[in-house]
Amino acid sequence: MATNSETNSAVFELAILARLTWNLHSLNNEGTLGNVSEPRTVVLWNGQRTDGISGEMMKHIHAYWTWIGASSGADYPLCDGCRDFRPQRADLISKKLTKNDNVAALSEAIECVLCDVHGFLVQTPTIHRQSVVEFGWVVGLPGKVQRDLHAHARHAATERGVETTSAGDTGSDEQAGTQEGVAAQMVYHRPTRSGVYALVSLFQPWRIGLNEIDYTYSLDDEQRKKRFELVLQAYEWTLKRPDGAMRSTRLPHIERAEGVLIVSAKAVPVPLLSPLRDDYREKLQELAAMQGCDVIPFADVDEMVAALERIKQRDPFKLERGVARK
Ligand SMILES: [Zn+2]
Repeated sequence: MATNSETNSAVFELAILARLTWNLHSLNNEGTLGNVSEPRTVVLWNGQRTDGISGEMMKHIHAYWTWIGASSGADYPLCDGCRDFRPQRADLISKKLTKNDNVAALSEAIECVLCDVHGFLVQTPTIHRQSVVEFGWVVGLPGKVQRDLHAHARHAATERGVETTSAGDTGSDEQAGTQEGVAAQMVYHRPTRSGVYALVSLFQPWRIGLNEIDYTYSLDDEQRKKRFELVLQAYEWTLKRPDGAMRSTRLPHIERAEGVLIVSAKAVPVPLLSPLRDDYREKLQELAAMQGCDVIPFADVDEMVAALERIKQRDPFKLERGVARK
């Protein structure tokens, strides 16, 4: 596989910049108006409206796969809130955190892997953590997105007192309006979307286990390395098995993923140029070269997963001043 300068040095930041081809999904919706579900719509700088999947949804998917990975291994402590995947995270254990010492309280909170990686907001004591993984909107490339609204009907056929239900298209809904099972009959409209989507995501391994009040690490090198691997695994799972809404009937047809991973081995921010640009790979190559970052291109889902697997062999970057806390 072609790589620019893949090394085994530590990873300060990692960016995933890709075009994802996903078909016939409905992973994220605005909500339901009456019996019509509205797909997410975003507006680009030039006023162009296009299809999108929110960063919140992508982050939720990544958090879920992180939680699944953490729950299946003894190496990953989870706080009381995260053990049940509750969104309040460390706020649920605020009573157990040291009061009047925010440095100590933050270190206690980030012992939990999900709180460490995905962030939290605790009200008492007032401490917060910014997530170490970030997602932008997954946005449909203008001209490369298709959206359709399909009508479906829930049928209720009542025969000899036994009611059965089944889903189907309205075309076969000849029984609607009959006197039997009228209450159970329902016509509803659901969006179906296909497209090539631009993905931007940033992972900051240098912040794993870092107490960002006094800028020291609360975790030892081995724990940080394990969390680094867990986050990369969750990325793999997120991109080859995106979770989200309406999967029981709109399980996405994943067709392709192509793009680049950008890795900085030193304390240099990786460039983030959107795959909305057709020339994003070439421009990123140039930018990365100027900043001394590695560029790892991939042309399909398997190549992307293989590249992430190789990065797992590396270590998370550690600030020199970040001496481990006792
Ligand atoms: Zn937690």
